[in-house]
Amino acid sequence: MVADKIDKKELWQKVVMRLGLIVSRQNILSFFKNSIISDFEDGILTVAVSNFFTQQFIRERYHMKLLCIFQELEPSVRDVKYEIMGILEHEGHPGKPDMDQLHTVADMPKTRKVRNKQEVIVDSEMRGNIMKYELDNYIPGNENRLVHAACMAVGAKPGNIYNPLYIYGGVGLGKTHLLQATGNLILKNYPQKRVIYMTAEKFINEIIDAIGKRHTKPFKDKYRNIDCLIVDDIQFFANKATSEQEFFHTFNELYDNGKQLVMSADRSPRELDSLDDRLRSRFAMGMVIEVCVPDFETRVAILQEKCAEHGEMIDRKILEFIANNVTSSVREMIGILISAIAQARLENANPTISSVAEVIRKLTKAKELIGLHAEGIAQLSQVRNLEDVIEVVSRYYKIPRETLVSEQRSRGIIVPRQICMFLIRQILDQSYETIGETFGGRNHTTVLHSCNKIIERLQVDQRLQRDVNALKKEMGV
Ligand code: ADP
Ligand code: MG
Repeated sequence: MVADKIDKKELWQKVVMRLGLIVSRQNILSFFKNSIISDFEDGILTVAVSNFFTQQFIRERYHMKLLCIFQELEPSVRDVKYEIMGILEHEGHPGKPDMDQLHTVADMPKTRKVRNKQEVIVDSEMRGNIMKYELDNYIPGNENRLVHAACMAVGAKPGNIYNPLYIYGGVGLGKTHLLQATGNLILKNYPQKRVIYMTAEKFINEIIDAIGKRHTKPFKDKYRNIDCLIVDDIQFFANKATSEQEFFHTFNELYDNGKQLVMSADRSPRELDSLDDRLRSRFAMGMVIEVCVPDFETRVAILQEKCAEHGEMIDRKILEFIANNVTSSVREMIGILISAIAQARLENANPTISSVAEVIRKLTKAKELIGLHAEGIAQLSQVRNLEDVIEVVSRYYKIPRETLVSEQRSRGIIVPRQICMFLIRQILDQSYETIGETFGGRNHTTVLHSCNKIIERLQVDQRLQRDVNALKKEMGV
């Protein structure tokens, strides 16, 4: 049985803490406090909860999130099942997560602005680097919400539970942005803390330099007397035994003293083949998160953010065209936007679809461009925002949009409205507050209640199940 290989309590603790980054504290306390991993066999992991309602709610609302987190932490997990264990409600059970360690996004202090940065003790060259990026202008989207939240958590409480923080993923997906911004946030919240950001390459060069001069003490002192060490692109340590060893010692000393470590690499610790096993397992002790390619909506939002940073107003259609055609690297996508802006400025005109298409062709290998000849822009998914969902529901039930979002409380409208809220929540993961605002300024608890009502009824009402399935099909989900 594989079950013996994993520490179920430890795994569950990690999973729930991680979930705390994307789920409100109240929901974590309501649904996960009295829960355990009861079994793990043949890749099927069983989570036991105390009652039927919680079981339904977790399955309906959190299953995908839980599965993703489980698989990231324990790749042999194939699926998650849920069972009810009534005794969990009342009895202490050693497998329950320790909620004292819970640190949700809502707990994080708001970023403080520090006027006098003179006091920040950090290598001036590195300070310049760190100052470049902020978490405020990182657009997390659905895909990178977890990594963004983890960086916020580290910025709020460095050296706490997300330590070490290890961020990995492909080129141009925002790792350097996140690392530098985290360093920045720590400095904002704790101006006295000493933070060093550097690339692994620079670390290696400094070591080689120190060894060459036969004088490694200043080097050692510099890195062991700080509060946070951020090292970018640590895949460069591979096959560089001396540097790696020095980094290992520095890492251990800082870690043992409760100092924060943040690292990035182009692959997961598991895949860093040529790295020392000891170092690899140290990385895995903390929080390991992948940065993912953002989806279409997020890519457009990133482009909008970059336009704002450059003080440019560009037609959304143009941004959508770029986002549709440059998908794998955010850096490349931004590069195209900047080139398109530069070219248009030269020609004293606004960028057009065809001028942007030319830039894309020049800078990438793309041949077939989506949306170049079509009337509108090709849509990648049929529902992309809240209004799209409302439109489909409104069409399905033949209720005008305005009535659907209104205060009107006639029977024929209440249920479609609840379904609409439920679908927005489920498909787009919008907050109850945002949904409430769209639906005539309703309170978030009203929205929560509506969503729960649908979840409950879906268990027993076959007609409702049919309607919800038909609606989802219409929306292409
Ligand atoms: P990496 O280090 O992973 O190669 P970078 O951090 O250098 O990538 O990111 C490349 C560019 O993309 C930077 O200009 C960064 O600001 C931008 N970027 C990447 N992801 C995002 C995002 N989610 N929101 C805003 N900007 C982003
Ligand atoms: Mg980078």
